Amino acid sequence: MKTLLPTSTAGSLPKPVWLAQPETLWSPWKLQGEALIEGKQDALRLALADQQQAGIDIVSDGEQTRQHFVTTFIEHLDGVDFEKRETVRIRDRYDASVPTVVGAVARRKPVFVEDAKFLRQQTKQPIKWALPGPMTMIDTLYDAHYKSREKLAWEFARILNQEARELEAAGVDIIQFDEPAFNVFFDEVNDWGVATLERAIEGLTCETAVHICYGYGIKANTDWKKTLGSEWRQYEEAFPRLQKSSIGMVSLECHNSQVPMDLIELIRGKKVMVGAIDVASHAIETAEEVADTLRKALQFVDADKLYPCTNCGMAPLPRGVARGKLAALGAGADIVRKELAV
Ligand SMILES: [Zn+2]
Repeated sequence: MKTLLPTSTAGSLPKPVWLAQPETLWSPWKLQGEALIEGKQDALRLALADQQQAGIDIVSDGEQTRQHFVTTFIEHLDGVDFEKRETVRIRDRYDASVPTVVGAVARRKPVFVEDAKFLRQQTKQPIKWALPGPMTMIDTLYDAHYKSREKLAWEFARILNQEARELEAAGVDIIQFDEPAFNVFFDEVNDWGVATLERAIEGLTCETAVHICYGYGIKANTDWKKTLGSEWRQYEEAFPRLQKSSIGMVSLECHNSQVPMDLIELIRGKKVMVGAIDVASHAIETAEEVADTLRKALQFVDADKLYPCTNCGMAPLPRGVARGKLAALGAGADIVRKELAV
């Protein structure tokens, strides 16, 4: 990438009110059939326009075609029964009714490839596509078939690799795996979490990223964060293993969080997507606040490897707030770019 400090978002953006209920996770669609397909494409175009207007360099679909970052992918797989639901504790944090794995999991057909082709047609800018990571997928399911988290994760890694290869062929420049579960299950991350992620990127020539965060700004997450104390050192557990992995980029949470910035040193050599936008607050950052976070991060990551980003997805935020935050991200990166050019 030629631009210095190329900006991007972690992935999701709010959906228009005519497509789905705003500020709601798992919000049901308001359209059906052909109208829904067309509506999702229109929403994707608007999400792209918002990013372009804000000067975002690496653009995404804003996840406009999916109801949820994990569930929508799983819905397209064989072996998972969405009628048969069990209550499980997600990320050791909150109970949710989830579908059950009842047989061998398989991908019948591509899940997001048509959407990625559509986005590719709309822009010549680099595009990033987010997929759920294997560990976060198994954590959002009840497994009555494999009865082994590790075994199921390897199966999902194989399926994700099929999807990732087709996304790459569709023209995606960066494929990102969302693994918020890496901040919770430290032993599993080191035993097989990173290894399954490496399986998911096998054979890819495009850039690859992993996004690890403290979650959307929903109550279960903000309550959990209150229990983490004054220094959030969770990244310390996964970063040494990730630093040695074949994953090229790491997307992490920084601004307004209690993550000590020097933990970035643990992934020295990787490209780092630094979260300079808080997604758990409706307050819109100033460009100067964004610039300040980036300047601090520059102590621990070389300028040519720093990718200004958001802490997490912005799906649950009001659209106006998300737009304001996108603009702040673009303007803040610009300030630091100019400083580096001097
Ligand atoms: Zn996130």
